[in-house]
Amino acid sequence: MAETIELEIVTPERMVVKGRAEEIQIPGRGGYLGILPGHAPLITELAVGEIEYKNAGTVTRLSVAWGFAEVLPEKVTILAETAELAEDIDVERANAARERALENIHKADNPGAYEEASQALSRAESRLAVAKQK
Ligand code: ATP
Repeated sequence: MAETIELEIVTPERMVVKGRAEEIQIPGRGGYLGILPGHAPLITELAVGEIEYKNAGTVTRLSVAWGFAEVLPEKVTILAETAELAEDIDVERANAARERALENIHKADNPGAYEEASQALSRAESRLAVAKQK
């Protein structure tokens, strides 16, 4: 059996994942990080993107947005503002959010409104990309 690392993915609302993984990919602010058991300790901010982990031949994917990840040699803890497993993503809702965000980017008349709409677009596109792979 391959060596595994403990994994918890938590949002302010709930525990989304509690399990073990042979390998985890995390969207850090500086780009994607690949974590294997025994990884050196680190803390990174999360961007908007996809978490993918493997265990016993199964690949699990989630869309996450913002927060932090703490990596220890035997445990990875992800504290995300939002996190949805691929099968829990409502594609219709994400498509509507994407359309709305594109309209808002178009209409934005100040940098704050533009930034907010761009972030909403990133969340919607990440959800759509993860849902597509399930
Ligand atoms: P929307 O405009 O559709 O609410 P949003 O990007 O503004 O999208 P968030 O503020 O990121 O939504 O998330 C609010 C809550 O709704 C979180 O709990 C998040 O996990 C959940 N959520 C958002 N979009 C989806 C979706 N398409 N499918 C499932 N859960 C979603």
